[in-house]
Amino acid sequence: PLRGRSALVTGSTSGIGLGIARALAASGCDIIYTGFADDKVLAELQADFRKYAGITARYFPADLTKPTDVERLCTMAREHCADGVDIVVNNAGFQHTSPIESFPLATWDAMMAAMLTAPFLIIKHLLPAMKAKGWGRIINISSVHGLVASVEKCAYVSAKHGVNGLTKVVALETAGSGVTCNSVCPGAVLTPLAEKQIRQLMKDHNVDWNDAQAMLLSIQPSNDFVSTKQVTIKKKSNKIYKLVAIFNNIRYFRMLSVLL
Ligand code: NAD
Repeated sequence: PLRGRSALVTGSTSGIGLGIARALAASGCDIIYTGFADDKVLAELQADFRKYAGITARYFPADLTKPTDVERLCTMAREHCADGVDIVVNNAGFQHTSPIESFPLATWDAMMAAMLTAPFLIIKHLLPAMKAKGWGRIINISSVHGLVASVEKCAYVSAKHGVNGLTKVVALETAGSGVTCNSVCPGAVLTPLAEKQIRQLMKDHNVDWNDAQAMLLSIQPSNDFVSTKQVTIKKKSNKIYKLVAIFNNIRYFRMLSVLL
């Protein structure tokens, strides 16, 4: 259903972004994947994407904390997709936990750059081609922390609230153009990002993996993680919202908008 379409998925070397990139590839979409990865992981990813028949998958490196890298990524993506990128999934992100009094400014700046400024720049650079052809899908992977707060996550919560604001503005500015912009606000998904938090809780509270996991899940009503494999597009669907609908089925998951 997405054959002939192209997608840029940031943070697609791991976790949710990789799940989304695979789901798009399985649906026939050409993929640009990006994110941190060593040579071994890149070789595995290349082999993995080769399994999807009839699509191209290209890796472009970029550190999204650096606006120059983001701009270079956009230029490479535009050059790679003659007709412009059809689908943008702004997914890359990372977590740092600390009380605000000891939260390092450099970490705050890096998180804002990767999770708010990079989506802004990517949309800014790739939207014109979408508007020109009258079709485009922008999906920002926000978080439940774009809607509510938790202690010790000042930068993450601020960046994710910001992304939801950015989403709303872009949705308004693209209304009627054939381009849509939505946020997905997942609760806890068991990825390296969540595993890092579990390890931090083990250290901070001197508890084992299971107890730390229970602490992380204590605010998630389903009391369980969502797997990245649940991020999927049903066969024979041409609607991208299938990609995000799974999040809506989980009680604590919220979608900012279903304007797709
Ligand atoms: P992950 O750690 O598995 O993957 C993060 C991806 O982002 C990786 O590909 C990594 O290389 C990339 N990345 C990180 N910093 C980057 C940078 N500076 N430049 C370029 N790429 C960078 O994490 P995940 O859980 O899959 O997270 C993906 C998104 O989902 C994030 O935006 C995260 O905030 C959001 N999210 C995650 C959860 C969860 O519980 N895991 C919940 C809600 C929202």
